[in-house]
Amino acid sequence: MEAKFVKSSTTLEQCPPANKPEYAFIGRSNVGKSSLINALVGQKGLAKTSQTPGKTQHINHFLVENTWYLVDLPGYGYAKVSQKEREHWEKMIKNYLLKRENLLCTLALIDLRLPPQANDIEFLLWLGQNTLPFVIVFTKADKLSHLQQAKQENLYKEELLQYFETFPRYFVTSAEKKQGLEELKLFLYELNQN
Ligand code: GDP
Repeated sequence: MEAKFVKSSTTLEQCPPANKPEYAFIGRSNVGKSSLINALVGQKGLAKTSQTPGKTQHINHFLVENTWYLVDLPGYGYAKVSQKEREHWEKMIKNYLLKRENLLCTLALIDLRLPPQANDIEFLLWLGQNTLPFVIVFTKADKLSHLQQAKQENLYKEELLQYFETFPRYFVTSAEKKQGLEELKLFLYELNQN
């Protein structure tokens, strides 16, 4: 996919005009977000990998094939971030997610190797409570066997079905092994056409 960097914004108002479909990628820092974005568009250096965690408090817009925006949102959950920075993140991100008119879907990235983490669950619940469309994208699947993957998926199902009537749509991916990427692309293309 042809993708180019458009703009880094710190507020909703600074974002590019809301005139194209948009998808936001978000997750805990180190979840593999940059790697997934780069693997998805097939451009190694597009999103920067392994930046100082918690230091990228920007909403980054990339234009893909001149038709839609891929948005790289700053990660959450980095322990060394101050309370003030955390609050700033929350305000900026929640404002963007609630008010961005052309945002069709949020891709909530979750590290499949970890048991359900409180801040991931909290974030998914917040999306649900605000009726914001989202899917779960599990990352780093290559680190687990198929059996382990299934076990982890079940853990998340048990956890989330306490709160959601149905389990959200999800994708199991690996940036490293290019697993699940075609499926994810297809999903985005289909949304684009609606
Ligand atoms: P970000 O902070 O969410 O943008 O995460 P990065 O993309 O920088 O990745 C964090 C770490 O996880 C890096 O060391 C990556 O090499 C590693 N990583 C990311 N994606 C994968 C993957 O699909 N498989 C494996 N094994 N490691 C990954």
